[in-house]
Amino acid sequence: MMKRTGVFFHEIMRNELAPMDMDIGKGFDAIKREGLFDGHDVALFEAGPVSEALVLRVHSREWLAEVKREGYWEVALHSAGAVVGAFDGVLSGELHNALALVGIGGHHAHRDFAYGGCSINHEAIAVAWARANHRGTRFAIVDTDTHHGDGTRELLSGDENALHICYCGCGRGDGRTGICLPHASGDDDFLRRFQAEVPPLLDDFRPDLILWFCGLDTHRDSYGTRKLSEGCYPGLCRILARTAEGVCQGRLVVRVGCNAPSRVAATVLPAMVRVLSGG
Ligand SMILES: [Zn+2]
Ligand SMILES: [Zn+2]
Repeated sequence: MMKRTGVFFHEIMRNELAPMDMDIGKGFDAIKREGLFDGHDVALFEAGPVSEALVLRVHSREWLAEVKREGYWEVALHSAGAVVGAFDGVLSGELHNALALVGIGGHHAHRDFAYGGCSINHEAIAVAWARANHRGTRFAIVDTDTHHGDGTRELLSGDENALHICYCGCGRGDGRTGICLPHASGDDDFLRRFQAEVPPLLDDFRPDLILWFCGLDTHRDSYGTRKLSEGCYPGLCRILARTAEGVCQGRLVVRVGCNAPSRVAATVLPAMVRVLSGG
C-alpha cells in the first residue's frame, strides 16, 4: 500500500501577532479547499504541543521564561510539535513524507536568545526528539530561507549525524556538516543551481531523513532578495522529493511558515502537497 503524506497544522498557527498579512492558515485553508484531504493519500494531523522538558534539551530556562513573557509560548510549542509530529510519522514509517506548517519562526533561535521573528528552534528540537527515540538517525537539513540559519547551525554544530545546508549566500562553512551555498536569484537560476548542488551533497551524506526548511521570504513580494515566484517552490519540492527517494526511501519533511503575503502560501502549499503525494 502506498504510504500517505501527512500535513501537520493547528489553528493556533493563524498568526494574530503578525503586523502584516502573513498567515500560514490561509495556506492550510487552500489545501482543504482544493480537496487534497478528501482522498486516501493525504492525511491531516493536529500539531503539538511539545513538552517543556523537550524544549529544555535545546534551550535554557531563562530563554523559555522570555518566550513566555513575549506571548509566543503556545504557538511556539505547537510549531515545534508540527515538526516533531512530522518526524515521528515519517521515521516510524506511518507516513511517506510530511508537510509541517508553523506559526512562528525557529532558525534564528539559539540556546539563550532568538531574533528575526523566531522563538524556539523547532528543527533542533525535532532532532533532539529523534535522538531520544530513533538512535543513530542521520539528518540533512536544507534551509532555503533568505537568511542564514544561524541558530540551527549553532545548535547542531558538532553533531556529525546532522548535515546543515544553507542557501543564504553568506559563504560560511562550519566543518564538514555546516555548508552555506551562494544563493541564486530568480526561478530558473535558483532551480538550476539547487538541482546541481544539493542532490550530490545529500547523496554523499546519506541521511535517513531530509528536512527542508522552506522560507517563503525568498518570494519576490516578500522582503527577501531572491525574486522567486510561486512556481519555484513546488519545483524545489520535486527536486528534494526525488532526491529523498534515492537516498532515504522518500523520507522528506517540509517545514514551512508564512514569511510572505498569505496569498503566496495559498498558492504554494496545495502545490507542494500535490508534489509530496505524488501528484
Ligand atoms: Zn528569513
Ligand atoms: Zn547560511
